[in-house]
Amino acid sequence: MNFTRSNALWKAANQALPGGVNSPVRAFKAVGGEPFFAESGQGAWITDADGNQYVDYVLSWGPLILGHAHPEVVARVHEALNRGASFGIPTESETRLAEKLVEHVPSIEKVRLVNSGTEATMSAIRLARAHTGRDICVKVEGCYHGHADGLLVKAGSGLTTFGTPTSPGVPEAYASCTLTIPFNDVEAVKSVFEAHGDNVACLIVEPVAGNMGVIPPEDGYLEELRRITQAHGSLLIFDEVMTGFRVSLGGAQAHYGVTPDLTCLGKVVGGGMPIGAYGGPADIMDQLSPAGPVYQAGTLSGNPLATAAGLATIEVIEQPGAFEAIEANMLQLTEELGRLAAEADVPIYQTQAGTMACAFFQEGPVHNYADATQSDTDRYARFFWGMLQRGVYIAPAQFEAMFYSAAHGDNVFDHTCTAAREAFKEAAG
Ligand SMILES: *Cc1c(COP(=O)(O)O)cnc(C)c1O
Repeated sequence: MNFTRSNALWKAANQALPGGVNSPVRAFKAVGGEPFFAESGQGAWITDADGNQYVDYVLSWGPLILGHAHPEVVARVHEALNRGASFGIPTESETRLAEKLVEHVPSIEKVRLVNSGTEATMSAIRLARAHTGRDICVKVEGCYHGHADGLLVKAGSGLTTFGTPTSPGVPEAYASCTLTIPFNDVEAVKSVFEAHGDNVACLIVEPVAGNMGVIPPEDGYLEELRRITQAHGSLLIFDEVMTGFRVSLGGAQAHYGVTPDLTCLGKVVGGGMPIGAYGGPADIMDQLSPAGPVYQAGTLSGNPLATAAGLATIEVIEQPGAFEAIEANMLQLTEELGRLAAEADVPIYQTQAGTMACAFFQEGPVHNYADATQSDTDRYARFFWGMLQRGVYIAPAQFEAMFYSAAHGDNVFDHTCTAAREAFKEAAG
């Protein structure tokens, strides 16, 4: 494979953009080496700036559940763009998308559209604080909720001590409103709420963790989160920015039958355009300005292009059998990947939820962030490059999900398995 043009573009990018990118993981630092530049995408495939082609299992980090440039999404965005890119006054498609979210996501009666997942979580937490009149936010280690100040926090010295910033520029004072607990650990939730429960505004969690690899909740974990937060008058926030319309159409909450107070969405609901959303019961959501006193606004919020792409995506994926077909194809492929890893004597621990999957390069089991970090990331990096050089693009970091789309069927099965057979051998080396 030739990367001449990508390499030249990478040099130019590093002159103009910090680290060459607009979001850190794109720089491929976790696997070493330089990123390729995307030129175009069609269905399951990306073509790069040198004309190389890859089956794409990253899918813009989740949003593209229909694959690249799905004809329905392209047509609807064109149509919207021809009518004008933005108005800053109400448009019908905002309501239509909101209605879809209300229809599918059990906890949502009303929803506010924003421009990113980051905006959704930070606004949902503000609303939770306003609603409860409390300041503390409990966060789960290894879950990612975007880059808002109060969420760039890791655990303090003990379970019930306040967090410390994970990035320069985050004031200690912000971190001191955040408590961090491990995933899948009911005892930790109990201790934190015993110590601080009356001051906890909210607990925010990815109901299926997707940003430390994919880690599903253990039996009863989400139910306990629901019970304990309720007992203390704290709000439970499910960050379903990744899992919404991915673990099931109604997100992880529909799949596991546990209803949070507030839900954050993003990624799939924008069909590849910038979007975020947060919603919940009408009485809580109506505390938002202008219905209520909690301020939150956005010049481009509910943008007609983003709502057109999101609506088109949901209308295709909600067709009977469409979602299940993706799951079935994914299961078939992950099973084969497991077999190929075993054949090459590479221990992997596979996890899966809906249309997202992960292979931790270790024996497992993986219940939480500490377990996830036991993975052999050097081996993962060798596997990554082995796949890339054979035309398969998986996440350029171990602690990410592998995403599937409606365009990933028999058409990509053999190509992916042929690459994986060799890449696992190289990873073993
Ligand atoms: C991607 C993601 C976010 C952040 O969304 P952005 O649109 O990147 O700001 C928040 N929470 C979860 C669970 C995510 O996966």
